[in-house]
Amino acid sequence: MKYNIAVIRGDGIGPEVIAETIKVLNVIAERFGHTFNYEYLLAGGCAIDEEGTPLPNKTLEVCKKSDAVLLGAVGGPKWDNTNAKIRPEQALLGLRGALNLYCNLRPAVLYKPLKNESPLKDEIVKDGIDICIVRELTGGIYFGDRGVDIIDGVKSAYDTERYNVNEITRIVRIAFETSMKRNKKLTSVDKANILESSRLWRSIVNEMANEYKEVEVNHLYIDNAAMQIVKDPNQFDVIVTSNIFGDILSDEASMVTGSIGMLPSASLGEGTLGMYEPIHGSAPDIAGKRIANPLATILSSAMMLRYSFSLEKEAKAIENAVFSILEEGYRTGDIMTDGKELIGTVEAGNLICEKLKKGE
Ligand code: NAD
Repeated sequence: MKYNIAVIRGDGIGPEVIAETIKVLNVIAERFGHTFNYEYLLAGGCAIDEEGTPLPNKTLEVCKKSDAVLLGAVGGPKWDNTNAKIRPEQALLGLRGALNLYCNLRPAVLYKPLKNESPLKDEIVKDGIDICIVRELTGGIYFGDRGVDIIDGVKSAYDTERYNVNEITRIVRIAFETSMKRNKKLTSVDKANILESSRLWRSIVNEMANEYKEVEVNHLYIDNAAMQIVKDPNQFDVIVTSNIFGDILSDEASMVTGSIGMLPSASLGEGTLGMYEPIHGSAPDIAGKRIANPLATILSSAMMLRYSFSLEKEAKAIENAVFSILEEGYRTGDIMTDGKELIGTVEAGNLICEKLKKGE
């Protein structure tokens, strides 16, 4: 099969981690008989420099027509002035909005060979962690009414959490479907003891549970969920939650896995078009040093194969290759420990390619 992939290298370590990912995808194409066409596009800081805007029209148009978007990272100190009207992150928000990507899938996986990377104790981590957070991405308080006004002579500011039934239904549906492909256990996180929008959220989860009788459903308040992730992360399989709660919980979950350089993400919408990117930023402190960990981006490409192209075998092959180089003791600097073999960005990519070529 033939697939068109819009590739945004971005800034900082973005181009370095993307280069390794493309090498890996090329090996997959050859081994499994697919054709991947890549179109390289500008977005983020480099686009501001070259085109005066973080998201040039051409980038947006090509992304819309592609089968998937693969992104490195955007941003850096050069463009980090908080007062600036034009900022690199606007490219991400612009792409999510224009492509109607309302669902963010963030697996927080701690592979067994990396268990010492977790800040949690051994007896809590046990054989590793594997949580998938499904976060609503285009609604709620980040997009609701907001403003600043004066009430009784005192300045005040407000933001509004608003969700409609359709917005909740479509994200909860993805969460149930994701649960069916995993361990059939779904935790919905809300603040239904206080928030009206959470009560609506909860009622929709309960209603849909009737359609997915095999899935074990439970509800947690956000404050309790935040505690439970550090107390006993293995009680979770899939977590579904709103935009703001998901923002916070997914960062917390990634911290308990210990390495930001290992975690992929997918942003999905109605059809099969999705945007795939590592959760880390452009890491300007290590850009150009050839030491960045490319595994989060390589694992993001595995998510792309699974969710946009339905290529499960191919996705698994990449994930297995990543697991095996970790098990053999290879580590980039960010996950290096005593007795392991230190490798750079390019070596990490090469090792994965070798595994895949051998059909391991
Ligand atoms: P960051 O994720 O770039 O870096 C945080 C720390 O983790 C740094 O010490 C970095 O060296 C390290 N790190 C990150 N990825 C790594 C990797 N693959 N391998 C090894 N080490 C890695 O976060 P930050 O420093 O807060 O942000 C830097 C820039 O990235 C900012 O301009 C920010 O706006 C931007 N950013 C972009 C995205 C995105 O493109 N999706 C996300 C977050 C931050």
